[in-house]
Amino acid sequence: MNKSDNSKIGFCVVVISGPSGTGKTTVVSRLEEESPVKLIKTISATTRPPRAHEVPGQDYHFLSAEEFEQRKKNGDFLEFAEVYRTGYWYGTLKSEVERAGKSGGWALLEIDVEGALNVMREYPDALTIFLTTPSETVFEQRLRDRGTEDEAVIQKRLEAARNEIKFASRYRYTVINDQLDRAVEEIKEIFCQHAGESCEHA
Ligand code: ADP
Ligand code: 5GP
Repeated sequence: MNKSDNSKIGFCVVVISGPSGTGKTTVVSRLEEESPVKLIKTISATTRPPRAHEVPGQDYHFLSAEEFEQRKKNGDFLEFAEVYRTGYWYGTLKSEVERAGKSGGWALLEIDVEGALNVMREYPDALTIFLTTPSETVFEQRLRDRGTEDEAVIQKRLEAARNEIKFASRYRYTVINDQLDRAVEEIKEIFCQHAGESCEHA
């Protein structure tokens, strides 16, 4: 199908979620390139400071704690959560989901499990995908190999993951990110099933 036009298949909210280190960012960047339907990744708001390579308004909307609080009060968020008990807040602005809809794409949210559960309440028809690893050992290895967290943070994330995995059954699909190519193909297939017969793999 024409990737620049989802008008025949309608609007959809897609949530890709799962513990930190399962490969969400990696999978999502592949999907942005290869998805058989047009996807618009929502740009989250966060109170965490930008990393060296990050561009405000492109990677995140970086807000002060006060700005974030104000926007919460205004009802601007579809969902928000303090992710991994870091003291930093993350949230999806309703305006970002609307932006996706207006440009004729499916809104793609890459968010944590708490946020995903909140989206399910607002959008019961959302296409929710829980991304996981074949085992906890693989998960821990990926987290360590990525080299972006210190030991204390790794331990926190392992503990969080054991808790988050309990919610996998609340998602419409669970995808095991064993081989990256295979996992991406599986998700593309899910998109096609959801989009209907007009969908063709890119
Ligand atoms: P998340 O966004 O869920 O925290 P990342 O996308 O940062 O996870 O992936 C965590 C690490 O695992 C990264 O170093 C990434 O390159 C690696 N990775 C992702 N998918 C796979 C895979 N299928 N096989 C092996 N390594 C992977
Ligand atoms: P990072 O700080 O590494 O960019 O992101 C940390 C975590 O925050 C990721 O696992 C990601 O899923 C989660 N996250 C990013 N944006 C949002 C959001 O808008 N809402 C929620 N609930 N979680 C988010």
